Amino acid sequence: MRLNKFYNNIEDSYLFSTISKKISLYKSKNPSADLIKMGIGDVTRPLCSATIDAMDKAVHDMAEAETFHGYGPEQGYEFLREKICNYYGDLGVSVGIGEIFVSDGAKSDVGNILDLFARDNKVLIPDPVYPVYVDTNIMDGREIIYIDANEENGFLPMPNESQEADIIYICSPNNPTGAAYNKEQLKRWVDYAQSMNALIIYDAAYEAFVDDSGLARSIFQIDGARKCAVEICSLSKTAGFTGVRCGYTVISEDLEMDGMNINKMWIRRQSTKFNGVSYIVQRGAEAVFSPEGRAQIKTNINYYKENAKIICDLMRELKIWFTGGENSPYIWFKCPGNRSSWEYFDYLLENANVVGTPGSGFGKNGEGFFRLSAFGSRENTIKAVERIRKLNDFLVRDNKYGI
Ligand code: PLP
Repeated sequence: MRLNKFYNNIEDSYLFSTISKKISLYKSKNPSADLIKMGIGDVTRPLCSATIDAMDKAVHDMAEAETFHGYGPEQGYEFLREKICNYYGDLGVSVGIGEIFVSDGAKSDVGNILDLFARDNKVLIPDPVYPVYVDTNIMDGREIIYIDANEENGFLPMPNESQEADIIYICSPNNPTGAAYNKEQLKRWVDYAQSMNALIIYDAAYEAFVDDSGLARSIFQIDGARKCAVEICSLSKTAGFTGVRCGYTVISEDLEMDGMNINKMWIRRQSTKFNGVSYIVQRGAEAVFSPEGRAQIKTNINYYKENAKIICDLMRELKIWFTGGENSPYIWFKCPGNRSSWEYFDYLLENANVVGTPGSGFGKNGEGFFRLSAFGSRENTIKAVERIRKLNDFLVRDNKYGI
C-alpha cells in the first residue's frame, strides 16, 4: 500500500504547542504568576438560555418513542434550514432551503469541500491566514499562490487581475487580522473570480461581529456572488458553539462550473460521507435564530466587542498600529519596538504575564505582528490592558523603545 505523500509537505504546526511549552516553562519557574490568556480563539461565555432550553427539551424528545429522532436528513432538519434562510433574508439575501447545508462546524466544511475539486486547480490564499486553508490544500497536493496582506493594504489584499487562480479563499472579518472587507472591495473580488471562472470559498465564521452596514456579512450581499462563491459559516463564535459543534454552508442551486452543478455535487458528497448533525444540537441551533436567542447571543457578542474596544483604545493611546477589534473579536497589532512576533510573545509573557499569539504563526507576513483575542472575561481584559499600559509607561520613561 502507499500513503498520501503530500502529508510530508505539511509543515508541523508548532504555533500552539510552542505557546503551551513556553507557558509551562514560565509557570514552572514562576508558580505564583497570574497569567492572562488572550491567545486562543475560543469563546468563554456560556450558551444562551434559549439554546439550553431547546437542547434540554430535545433531550427529552429523545426519551420518548413518539418524539425520538434517529438518523436525520444529511442536509440538516428543515426546521433549522428555514431559520437560516430567514436570517439571510434579514440581510437582504435570498437563499433557498435547498441551498443550506447544516454541518458540524466550519472547519470540517472548509476541509471537506475540497473533495469536489480537481488537484490541478490553482489556489489563491492570503498570507497571513487561518492555517486550515493552506494545510487542507497541501494534503491534496494542490498548488498554492499566496497574496500578500500587509500594513500597506491594511491586511485587506485586493485581486491582481494578471494573477490566475481557480479557487480563492476569503475570510472576512478575518482570522487572524480582524480586518473586514467592505462591499465595494468584495465586489472587486467577485468580479475577479468571475473573470477567472474561479470559485470563492468565503469563510464568514465571524460575520456576527459586523455592525458596520458598509461591510459585508455575507458574500451573497454582493451582486454576482451566487454564480462564483460558496459561503461557510459557523455558530462557534456567533453563539458559543465551539464545544457544541454546528455550522452551515450555503451553495446556490445554480452554481455551475466546469459543466457540473456544485450544489448537487455537495449533496452527493454529504449524503455519502456525512450523516448529519445531532437532533439535539440542531434544536439548540434553531433557538439561536429565534427572537430571544438572537437577543441573547447579541448580548454575548457585545460583551466581547466591548472587550475588543478596551484593547483598541489602548492601541490608540499607545499609538500602536493595529487592525481589527471593531467588527471582529481579534486585535492584530505591530509589535512595539520592532520586535519579532516571538520576541514580543516572550516579552509580554515575562513582563506582563499576558499570553497572546505571535503573528508569524499565521504566515510570513504575520512576522512582527501579534494577535490578541477579545474572547476572555472583562476582568481579565481590563487587567491585561492595565499591565500592558504600565509596561509601556516604563518603556517610554526609560526611552527603551520608540513606539
Ligand atoms: N474559520 C475560521 C476563520 C476560524 O477562525 C475558525 C475557528 O477558529 C473556524 C473557521 C472553525 O470554526 P468551527 O468551530 O465552526 O469549526
